[in-house]
Amino acid sequence: MRISQFLVCFFLPFSFGSAPVQTDWWARLHTLETQAETCDIHHASSVSKDLSKLYQEILSQKETIQIQKDQIEDQLQEQKNDLLQQKKKIQRQKDQISIELLKNQRTYPVFSNDLQNPLQSLVTQCGQYQSLQEQVQKLEKQWESFQTTSQDMDKIQKRVESAQKDLWLRFGKGQTPEFKTGQTFDSHQIIQGTQDLPVFGGVHANDWQVPYTCLSPQASIAQTSPFFQNMISGSTISAGTWQYPQGGLHLGVDLASNLYSEVSAPANGIILYADTPCDSVGGYLGNWEGWPYGGGNTICMIVSVQEQLYAISLAHLSNEFYVQAGQQVHQGDVLALSGNSGNSSGPHTHVEVFEIHVSLEEAVTYFMDQADFAFGCGWDAPATSSAIATRLRPETVL
Ligand SMILES: [Zn+2]
Repeated sequence: MRISQFLVCFFLPFSFGSAPVQTDWWARLHTLETQAETCDIHHASSVSKDLSKLYQEILSQKETIQIQKDQIEDQLQEQKNDLLQQKKKIQRQKDQISIELLKNQRTYPVFSNDLQNPLQSLVTQCGQYQSLQEQVQKLEKQWESFQTTSQDMDKIQKRVESAQKDLWLRFGKGQTPEFKTGQTFDSHQIIQGTQDLPVFGGVHANDWQVPYTCLSPQASIAQTSPFFQNMISGSTISAGTWQYPQGGLHLGVDLASNLYSEVSAPANGIILYADTPCDSVGGYLGNWEGWPYGGGNTICMIVSVQEQLYAISLAHLSNEFYVQAGQQVHQGDVLALSGNSGNSSGPHTHVEVFEIHVSLEEAVTYFMDQADFAFGCGWDAPATSSAIATRLRPETVL
């Protein structure tokens, strides 16, 4: 082992600092769980918001711990290799000494000086081996403490998710709709919504520094797809249409998946709207961020399947988007990563589907005028139709 390597090994463990400090995570969880159980509808949103804040902190703590665990694992691997090398070196030294001893037996009672240096060297090497071994043990202890903390974080995360679900069960159904829009045309609301529309140059995603405008009524879809493809592999339906499992109108399907799952285009199409005004995991009951209000980070697109046009909208996404308005997408292209944004009780993607009755140009023109994610079908009743489209149960096509 080179001296520099040894020094690195010796000093690195100190750079990790001590085990992560156990903050008041559990105490905060208990308080919020109690509040979630006992609060009335007037406080539900603020309790949900606090739970969401805790959730975000847990996720970021988990990320930090994971980075530290990875560093320790790398370091452990390196040090274990060093230990092995050192062990071999000691064995070679022992062999050398055995040979010298044999030589000395022959020249007894006169001892050779050749024995002195190898013996001293052996003592030094054994000392180095021992201190390396101690470093490895220290690192292993640190790793275990990080592991325990990360398991705690997992448990707290699950408890927060279930407290959010309970809140949703008590107050989410019917009393608070998933999206907040007026039944009648509200120009103020629409203008507020459309100011962020990509057609007006408002794409927020971090990578796109320059406002991007390319959606136009001349938008086209190169080729129709033969069938709809699964949008999030491994996802399950946590709430179907037209009702939440606990009751209350639900106009789309909720696909539950891990946070940051890839959400892909179910068919060839064109993006009408893609905007990321919200945190990826900032969702809580009554969080009306995004467009439509409560949607969080949202995408609206038109796809073509067997020559039939469908509008598909996605809500509560993370702010990792890979598409922009006006862009043509192919079936299977990754559009975004899933999240938990807006008026959302936990990590999931809300999907709505509309069968379009007009031409692509007319549908795009309508959307550019109205920014209406419901395509005239409103948000108050299931299976509604307008001159533009009919609201479908996504389960029947996706
Ligand atoms: Zn939903």
